[in-house]
Amino acid sequence: MFIGCHLSSSDGFEAMGRTALSIGANVFQFFTRNPRGGAAKPFDANDAAALEVLRRENGFGPILAHAPYTLNPCAADPGLRDYARQVMKDDLWRMDHFADAMYNFHPGSHVKQGVEVGIGFIVDHLNAILTPQLKTRVLLETMAGKGSEVGRNFEEIRAIIDRVELGEKVGVCLDTCHVFDGGYDIVNNLNWVLEQFDKILGLDRLCAIHLNDSKNPLGSHKDRHEVLGGGFIGADALARVVTHPKLHFLPFYLETPNELPGYAKEIALARQWTAGML
Ligand code: FE
Ligand code: FE
Ligand code: ZN
Repeated sequence: MFIGCHLSSSDGFEAMGRTALSIGANVFQFFTRNPRGGAAKPFDANDAAALEVLRRENGFGPILAHAPYTLNPCAADPGLRDYARQVMKDDLWRMDHFADAMYNFHPGSHVKQGVEVGIGFIVDHLNAILTPQLKTRVLLETMAGKGSEVGRNFEEIRAIIDRVELGEKVGVCLDTCHVFDGGYDIVNNLNWVLEQFDKILGLDRLCAIHLNDSKNPLGSHKDRHEVLGGGFIGADALARVVTHPKLHFLPFYLETPNELPGYAKEIALARQWTAGML
């Protein structure tokens, strides 16, 4: 299985690959720059190439970058929307140096403009940054529906994708904590949730899973991640996600409140869940 976690990018690309190996991971996610925004380090092509060698030698799966979560493609302020555009364009240029790359972002918060206006701005944003040459798949993350977050249900994500000109460049990242928080009962009704996903978005759009437990019960809209088995989703339900015939081949990325030794344990646990499968 492809499993890993979110890693700090401060020491560079190859260092992240080595860290991943040291905790039993064969995929990882990282922030392209400080998650609170700001300038990115200059791109180091040699370091990127070294990671590519390491990924090939060790059979790594897709590499996933996460956009800074302060970017808001549907902000009311046009300056903020333009800033989100510039940052993501630059991030996608960087990610296109890697094979099998994906770039995940939070659709945004519509603030007080209403979800329709928000969706319109997100569509404009994607139409401005996607190009036919782009190799990196851009993923919309399913959100918990905290505040005025767009992407709180599968329909809102569908409404965005429907209006994107280069729709084939866009995929979805399902965050288990977020969908549970958004009211999708993956504990008691995983098959129904996946049927909904398939009906509304198409399972072929699902490119990655953020594997997290939740500190809060179903439908809380709070977005507080918990370690696997420590929250309201629980180990059994997460094991069913990881081993589900429609999901098990996807890359799984932990975003649990943990340090490296804890991640190593969670990765080992998830590998145990799948061990019986094959
Ligand atoms: Fe996220
Ligand atoms: Fe997430
Ligand atoms: Zn979250």
